[in-house]
Amino acid sequence: ELYNKVLELKGNIRVFCRCRPLNTEEIALGASMVINFDAATEGELTVRSNGWPRKTFKFDAVFGPEADQADVSEDTAPFATSVLDGYNVCIFAYGQTGTGKTFTMEGTEEARGVNYRTLEELFNIIGGREKLFRYEISVSALEVYNEQIRDLLASGTQPGVSSKRLEIRQASEGVHHVPGLVEAHVSNMSEVWDVLQTGSNARAVGSTNANEHSSRSHCIHCVMVKGENLLNGECTRSKLWLVDLAGSERISKTEAQGERLKEAQNINRSLSALGDVIAALATKSPHIPFRNSKLTHLLQDSLGGHSKALMFVQISPNEKDLSETLCSLNFASRVK
Ligand code: ADP
Ligand code: MG
Repeated sequence: ELYNKVLELKGNIRVFCRCRPLNTEEIALGASMVINFDAATEGELTVRSNGWPRKTFKFDAVFGPEADQADVSEDTAPFATSVLDGYNVCIFAYGQTGTGKTFTMEGTEEARGVNYRTLEELFNIIGGREKLFRYEISVSALEVYNEQIRDLLASGTQPGVSSKRLEIRQASEGVHHVPGLVEAHVSNMSEVWDVLQTGSNARAVGSTNANEHSSRSHCIHCVMVKGENLLNGECTRSKLWLVDLAGSERISKTEAQGERLKEAQNINRSLSALGDVIAALATKSPHIPFRNSKLTHLLQDSLGGHSKALMFVQISPNEKDLSETLCSLNFASRVK
């Protein structure tokens, strides 16, 4: 509860920065680390490299290469409480391809990520409230690629060919929804794991290069929570959005042709729309430009108002990636 108070006082947008370790190939090539994490516990990191001005960035939390999934989930767990308290929560992973967005959100079977761990925390809290509340949880998984929505839980869907064209509709009371999207009811963590796996597998189906496809689309999970207070019958509804964003890297001029150019423009448009929306929310601007992309339109009723947002800015420690790293760190500073 203390944590929630702190969030309220400081606004409802948090930014965490996470840096992946150098991989074995980079180490073999003698790559150098250009990010310093000595002040990580104070939320600071410093970029230092020959030929670049030394620069310090400050975030709500900083996770260096040694931080593991459990360290990260310690700081994301409070958001599960927020969801059960009736807040809509959005957790994003932003950054260049290869910096660990999917590792942070999805993780691996052995090192499960934020998606699984936040749901686990949700179920833990629910277990402790059994006598007072009844909860119903369901999960949807979808992908936004080239501004088209694909259901990752509907059987037989293929990347780029939406079997069913899914659109965003505005229901009553300003609530947005996607009619026809599968909502899988889950009542325990083994069902959660199955649903997350189904979604993850569907992402790769039919694409010639699964990694490339996933780096150019947004992968979105929506956890819908219905709560009923057993003492007074009061009901709450809230949503937790878990978003593994498309890679933020700029493409080179030589690559920028045809289909690849269209993809890149759509990614740019939706990532900058997201940045604009979060920045507008942070400055309490009266006009929030939700309609500029499918992504922000979809999240409209969960960004702003009674909601909390967390952005993971994922970065690489490698000197070779420094210009993209600085772009990501600057993007993150803008949404604060
Ligand atoms: P992205 O989704 O941003 O393209 P990935 O999550 O696929 O990046 O990460 C790229 C590679 O780096 C993967 O092999 C992943 O397992 C590894 N990796 C990323 N972050 C970490 C980390 N914090 N610790 C260990 N390995 C990581
Ligand atoms: Mg990925």
